Amino acid sequence: MTCSVCGYSELIKYGFTSSGKQRYQCKHCGNVIVYSPEPADGPSTNFLATWLRRVEARLAELEEKVAFQDEEIARLEMLGELRR
Ligand SMILES: [Zn+2]
Repeated sequence: MTCSVCGYSELIKYGFTSSGKQRYQCKHCGNVIVYSPEPADGPSTNFLATWLRRVEARLAELEEKVAFQDEEIARLEMLGELRR
């Protein structure tokens, strides 16, 4: 992380904002920066909800793969029957 004003990388901890985010102060120019580790998904209280959505998406993906494999197996079994 670097200072948004001067680009200096030596920042010191400077307390927290009212919403609980860590603040840093640039040692070079005194600019105060608020560090937010989750830019897209809002506060960390949403972390679990985000994580659940990811797990659900992954499960749906896996289910699709399993369905495809079942089809594939059925197709191969049918081919096996035809060869007999
Ligand atoms: Zn600075």
